[in-house]
Amino acid sequence: MSVKNIAIIGAGPAGLIAAERLAAAGHRVAIYERMASPARKFLLAGRGGLNLTHSEGFDVFLRRYREAGDWLESALRAFPPQALRDWADGLGAETFIGSSGRVFPRAMKASPLLRAWLARLDGLAVRLASGRLWTGWSADGALTFRLASGEIETVRPDTTLLALGGASWPRLGSDGGWVPLLTARGVAMSPLRPANGGFTVAWSPQMKERFAGQPLKRIVIRSGGATAAGEAMIDAGGIEGGAIYALSAPIRKAIEQEGGATIQIDLRPDLTEEELAARLAKRRKGETLSNHLRKAAGLAPVAIALLRDAAGTALPDEPVALAASIKAAKLRLEAPMPIARAISTAGGIVRDECDAGFMLKRLPGVFVAGEMLDWEAPTGGYLLQASFATGVAAAAGMETWLAGQR
Ligand SMILES: Cc1cc2nc3c(=O)[nH]c(=O)nc-3n(C[C@H](O)[C@H](O)[C@H](O)COP(=O)(O)OP(=O)(O)OC[C@H]3O[C@@H](n4cnc5c(N)ncnc54)[C@H](O)[C@@H]3O)c2cc1C
Repeated sequence: MSVKNIAIIGAGPAGLIAAERLAAAGHRVAIYERMASPARKFLLAGRGGLNLTHSEGFDVFLRRYREAGDWLESALRAFPPQALRDWADGLGAETFIGSSGRVFPRAMKASPLLRAWLARLDGLAVRLASGRLWTGWSADGALTFRLASGEIETVRPDTTLLALGGASWPRLGSDGGWVPLLTARGVAMSPLRPANGGFTVAWSPQMKERFAGQPLKRIVIRSGGATAAGEAMIDAGGIEGGAIYALSAPIRKAIEQEGGATIQIDLRPDLTEEELAARLAKRRKGETLSNHLRKAAGLAPVAIALLRDAAGTALPDEPVALAASIKAAKLRLEAPMPIARAISTAGGIVRDECDAGFMLKRLPGVFVAGEMLDWEAPTGGYLLQASFATGVAAAAGMETWLAGQR
């Protein structure tokens, strides 16, 4: 095998796993990263518990990627959740399955795993060139990078992988700055939009001032035909949290089509409407409605405030009507919160622009992987799994392409 020079731009999970594969195959690999250190988002992801992947059956797993499941299937089959777990185990970050089926490293954090990974890459002679912002191509086709000093560096590899991430949390390095660079080359893109993020709500002053930062626990949210159970968090400008993130794709689409979306929140999913109405029928004389809702329906003050905001008028006194409003509080969501606050990004390079090995059809020799592709998924380990799997698939595509160039 003749050794080839490979440039990987972006030191997130997609770029790093591709670097590992290609260096292990004997190629000379350099990773270019704009930040001073690699994998900032991966490290942040580990702060709340690094959810690497999910243990559910493959068919259910694949459906989490919705329309993009079809596109990602071969990459996910070639590097499935068990392969990711084995890989992490091999780096000393043994994984376990949590009660929800989500998979985490025992240490919960990303830092021990990343440390071992970078040491492995170093052992494979992968060069990590940080502080280099990719700015496109020179007139004669070399990759161009801007250093902090303002100096421009050019590189002429045999093949390139772009693994530049989405546009959420831009201060960690991925800011979607690559979009105009590829659009200028004719690469079609679906606009970058927030995924797994919150939505704005026109709260009453009382809700904003008294309840911002408070969680709505053990709720079920319905939007169109979809439901999600979990928690939501009241924000001064809207609502966010796990149960909202899980529905962020259908909610965002409804907003795009109709200018807003109405969700229904079940504040007591553990009780039927009849059980709730029976409890609410026993109201002590002179008891305020708030006290009654707190004691008989077990609602927290934040849930009662949400109920009032959702109703827009006075709440009904009658137990059956009151129970119905607790089981389906209607909340109008106006717009997605900014992408900078979202966990991930929807949109990106569309499927038709890529061949089966994740090479850009318009730019032979340039491959793409990770969150910069046009797929989205809920939280639950699906984001990292697809970033890793497409990184592995792009590395395989690069090897095949290099072999064909010989
Ligand atoms: C708060 C938070 C928590 C998360 N938790 C989880 C979780 O528990 N489980 C899960 O599955 N997913 C989680 N995610 C999502 C997951 O981290 C991402 O999907 C994943 O990191 C994407 O990998 P990537 O390699 O495609 O891109 P990134 O990790 O974004 O890496 C891209 C890299 O490219 C670099 N770059 C960008 N532009 C340039 C340029 N022009 N020149 C040079 N370098 C550039 C960036 O600096 C960055 O280092 C979380 C995300 C956030 C924000």
